[in-house]
Amino acid sequence: MRSFDDTVREALGGPLTAADVAILQLNIGYVCNLRCKHCHLSAGPDRGERMSLEVMDEALRAVSRYGIRTVDITGGAPELNPYLRHLVAGARAAGSHVIVRTNLTVLLEPAMADLPEFYRDQGVEVVASLPHVVGASVDRVRGGGTFEKSLSVLRRLNSLGYGKEGTGLVLNLVYNPPGAILPGPQRELEDRYRRELAARGIVFDGLFAFANMALGRFREFLVRSRGLESYLAQVRRAFNAATLEGLMCRHLVSVRWDGTLFDCDFNQVPGLPVDEACPRHITAFDPGRLARRRIVTDEHCFVCTAGAGTS
Ligand code: SF4
Repeated sequence: MRSFDDTVREALGGPLTAADVAILQLNIGYVCNLRCKHCHLSAGPDRGERMSLEVMDEALRAVSRYGIRTVDITGGAPELNPYLRHLVAGARAAGSHVIVRTNLTVLLEPAMADLPEFYRDQGVEVVASLPHVVGASVDRVRGGGTFEKSLSVLRRLNSLGYGKEGTGLVLNLVYNPPGAILPGPQRELEDRYRRELAARGIVFDGLFAFANMALGRFREFLVRSRGLESYLAQVRRAFNAATLEGLMCRHLVSVRWDGTLFDCDFNQVPGLPVDEACPRHITAFDPGRLARRRIVTDEHCFVCTAGAGTS
């Protein structure tokens, strides 16, 4: 069977390489208040990996020194890292646009009571995971009651101006298919989200439709249900060369909680750091070399290039 690398070489006439380092994505820990069935990182309350203050400060030095335009903060639930506010404030002070990815429900925890106001005051872009607009579907993937909790947090964000025209406070949502299928057309999904959430008094800016990555807990589900081969065959068949230009690995570097550098968050799972010709730790961050690197790929990359693309 043809590898992803060979498929890309045939489409591009050469290997997949980075285009720039416009974004530094920081995964600040795998701990999460939820244990979603589609999570490629198998994040959950029992995970102990957390980015330390020292690694964070190294990342902030790199952001400031090299004028990184966007800092994209993810997890796990990044809110559960005690140094999140320090990181956000440091990146904003360095002049970067800051994105925080959230599962929404974590913002209902008592220690997070004023976090939405902090996000607003810092001008943070919020990217919120809401895998579906059918409550039962969300609860099946994330646990009972999570859909209604998520909606209450979205209303709170709206009340602060998030998702509302003219405020500059961006609220984007993320859809994931409810199983081993690829997302339907983006526009139709977004229209449906807009209609059904508006009926519940919620507005947002845009919707990203991400296919489920065949890694971590979702891969375990595929293996258990004997669906791994057919899912991988489905994403291979749906390979779309037009997605290669915009792949996130071509425009970002992903920093694991311990400072190791990856082409993307997905590559953290099989433990595939950036190409060995490049520095592999945030302490040796060198955007000049990283912007010309060869991307390290494997079979899971077919999920990113299926249909309209995922990253
Ligand atoms: S999994 Fe990562 S390296 Fe592979 S195509 Fe997707 S973004 Fe690029």
